[in-house]
Parts: sequence; structure tokens; C-alpha cells
Amino acid sequence: MGPRRNFIYPDAPKACLHCGNLFERHIGIATQKLWDSRKFCSRACGHEARRVAIPSVSVRLDRGSIPEPNTGCTIWLGAANNRGYGLMGVQGKLHLVHRLAYREHYGEFDPSLDVLHKCDMPPCCNPMHLFLGTAVDNGQDMATKFRSSGKMTKAQVLEIRLSNKTQRELAKDFGVSTDTISKICLKKIYRHVR
Ligand SMILES: [Zn+2]
Ligand SMILES: [Zn+2]
Repeated sequence: MGPRRNFIYPDAPKACLHCGNLFERHIGIATQKLWDSRKFCSRACGHEARRVAIPSVSVRLDRGSIPEPNTGCTIWLGAANNRGYGLMGVQGKLHLVHRLAYREHYGEFDPSLDVLHKCDMPPCCNPMHLFLGTAVDNGQDMATKFRSSGKMTKAQVLEIRLSNKTQRELAKDFGVSTDTISKICLKKIYRHVR
């Protein structure tokens, strides 16, 4: 009996959907089902094909918004949180659209800073209407809102869980203790919010 690697499969070779090269069934493709589902010659080709298929953030921003001629705002039409800020999923994580729009236009920025609207329109993602501010400018407003109701909104809870800020910074922004922030992040409270 010859070595296993010389085993020849009867299946005809396939053309890779990404690079077009022919590839054949080999010993690593254990079952017929696996071979039937193979579309790419290699892991690299499969990965590249999927990467190319997902439009870039800037294309998605363009497609998902419309200009508002009177104000010059660019209004995001997709998902939004309950304060009206646009949301976009990128690589499995939820992002605020105006922050993505700012980064696309001006480049990376200090994640502890807030992206604020000159136009006071939460769904606006026109980079000309956006500017960087400190968490304090925005946070005082949020803290007052939170204290008056005593309850976090769903959007606030999600914002805390998705934030890149430290728990101390979040506590300051929302006017609560770091203990509360920690409990929110660990889902000990507001467990139903998701
Ligand atoms: Zn290929
Ligand atoms: Zn605007």
C-alpha cells in the first residue's frame, strides 16, 4: 500500500473564486461535503474575498446617508440609538456613526475625546459639522440628565459598555460612581439591556 499522500481523488479540480487558479482535492479535505463547499484555493484567498466583499466604512457612510440641503447636514438613515445618534456595526462591534465619520475625514484621534456636533443634529455625519471636545463639555450635560431621572437609558448603558474610556472617566461623564460603571460593564445591573 502506497503512502496516503499519493491517494488520488476522483473529483475534478475547481477554479478559485478569488484568484482563478485551479486547485485539487487533497488529503486535508476530509469529507466530500467539505470539498463540495470549498470555493477558494487557500485560506488567504477566502479571507481576501470576504474582506473585499464588505464595503469600506467610507462607502457605507456615503450609501447610508443623504444631504439635507437647507442645513448642509448629512443625515444618517441607518440604525440609531435612542438619543438619535447613528450606529454602525464594524467587525462585530457597534460604533457611533458620527465618530466613524470624523475619523474617516480627519484621521485617528484620541479616543477619550468626544466628537461633538456644531449643528446639534445627532444623526448628522457631515465632518464639517463635527469637532473634537473634551468629555467634560458633553459629560456635564449627560450627568445632569442622568441625575434628574435616576435611571440610565438603554443607549447610555450600551454606550458605557462599548466605550474605550476608563471606568473613572465614564463615572465622571455620567455622574455616577465607578462601582456603578463596573456593575454595568459586568452586567450585574441592567442585565436585560443588550
Ligand atoms: Zn485563490
Ligand atoms: Zn450637521
